[in-house]
Amino acid sequence: MTAVFADERLLFAAATPDADAIPVIFAFPNDYTVGITSLGYQVVWATLAMRPDVQVSRLFTDLHEPLPAEPELLGFSVSWELDYVNILGLLESLDIPLRAGDRTDSHPLVFGGGPVLTANPEPFADFFDVVLLGDGEHLLDAFVTAYGEVRGEGRSRQLQHLSQVPGVYVPSLYQVTYTAPDGEIRAIAPLNGAPAVVEKQTYRGNVLSASTVVTERAAWENIYMVEVVRSCPEMCRFCLASYLTLPFRPASLEASLMPAIERGLAVTNRLGLLGASVTQHPEFDELLDYLNRPQFDDVRLSLASVRTGTVTEKLARSLVQHDSRSITIAVESGSDRLRQIINKKLETEEIAQAAVNAKAGGLSSLKLYGMVGIPGEEPEDLEATVNLLKTLKKAAPGLRLTFGCSTFVPKAHTPFQWFGINPDAEKRLKLLQKRLGALGVEFRPESYNWSVIQALISRGDRRLSRLLETVRHYGDTLGSYRRAFKELRGQLPPLEAYVFETWSGDRLLPWEHLHGPLPKVTLLKHQATALSLFSKSLV
Ligand code: SF4
Repeated sequence: MTAVFADERLLFAAATPDADAIPVIFAFPNDYTVGITSLGYQVVWATLAMRPDVQVSRLFTDLHEPLPAEPELLGFSVSWELDYVNILGLLESLDIPLRAGDRTDSHPLVFGGGPVLTANPEPFADFFDVVLLGDGEHLLDAFVTAYGEVRGEGRSRQLQHLSQVPGVYVPSLYQVTYTAPDGEIRAIAPLNGAPAVVEKQTYRGNVLSASTVVTERAAWENIYMVEVVRSCPEMCRFCLASYLTLPFRPASLEASLMPAIERGLAVTNRLGLLGASVTQHPEFDELLDYLNRPQFDDVRLSLASVRTGTVTEKLARSLVQHDSRSITIAVESGSDRLRQIINKKLETEEIAQAAVNAKAGGLSSLKLYGMVGIPGEEPEDLEATVNLLKTLKKAAPGLRLTFGCSTFVPKAHTPFQWFGINPDAEKRLKLLQKRLGALGVEFRPESYNWSVIQALISRGDRRLSRLLETVRHYGDTLGSYRRAFKELRGQLPPLEAYVFETWSGDRLLPWEHLHGPLPKVTLLKHQATALSLFSKSLV
């Protein structure tokens, strides 16, 4: 166990904790290999470890550092919805009641953050004392400092104090009422002086995150990760990665990227450039020139998915030079009409050009991402996707084509949050599989059932916590969820209401009191624009 931690190469200087430092456990609800590959987890852990007033120990599902006997804070970084099962397991293993309401002054405050909770914490609201909403940069320090101010006080005074910190959400200080036990939300009311609305915090500096630890035990062995951009300016209407983290912020080349890359490449030769749309960094070309210098010849470069229009021959050549053979682009659909509906500003010619450039630059494969069940989708739109792949085969013969395909899932804080999943999506995945397989395109569908579970959690309210507690003993299949819904019938709305129904714009949303970057009225305008394109003539 200690050998695992001894293998780590740290890229920050941990502080020596003060004698009365706050004992904190910071957990990742999955095994070490997964957790240590999360840039968010790495950065939060290092931020805590650099504070002399904190004594932090890490906890994963398979191993941990020596844990304090009486932790005062227990934090979770949550980046995958189904890891809630492990959160509950870890709470049990630490003898901490699962529900915040059952904890006493002798238990630590349980806090959480990360993309899953920032998007919609409500299904997990009953398990957390505190949720940190938004960018961690200033928020985490503000939270720990505020906790230090009320350290010796009773739990309810502590929570009341913490609820005054911008971005710190204390779910128990909001009372949610319903039109009926299985009906819609009637009202969400703050209690004990908590603010009526919690604003997700946005960091506006130009120095973004980079790995604080490199280890061969990471899921991507020895990877050093650098965040090139945060958010995406494209604003495709379904896209959480864009809407939840707006505005688009590139890291400064001089102040952030180059020093970070130099620091990391001193200890490894594997570099991951992260961000929703890395090639949209305004100085991406300069970044490539910097990485293409001879001293970095042996660097293995990995890139997150890139915007199609930015796949140049130079980019392809740079990837080949750094040991990559393929590039990934998200096209969503072959139908021009659907791409307009989702606000994807992308022409079929640009996709074909990307394939031509990828091949000309020496790449051997092009991976495309798409979706079925996009709101407004008609069967003819699937035909357009098949035709797109035919066009690409012709434009870049010999280039291996892969089509990864998921089902549209509504996400909170996006203009498409009101749409449900299309129940025909499963059939449509199968149809594409058949048609693209016949073309010699490798088709990789994402599980439809998993999309249904994702939608449930993504649009869930806090009545789901009871369901999640029940499901965890049944396993994480869709059948388990259906079984739990049956058992709890009458106590919460049916699965269909969360997943498949299209919600009206005036409905009170479970996250109505948690404000993202754009107001609801702006999201509704985007939705209206999309709806106006539904009737546009088909491809
Ligand atoms: S281009 Fe990609 S990352 Fe950007 S908004 Fe569209 S789907 Fe999201």
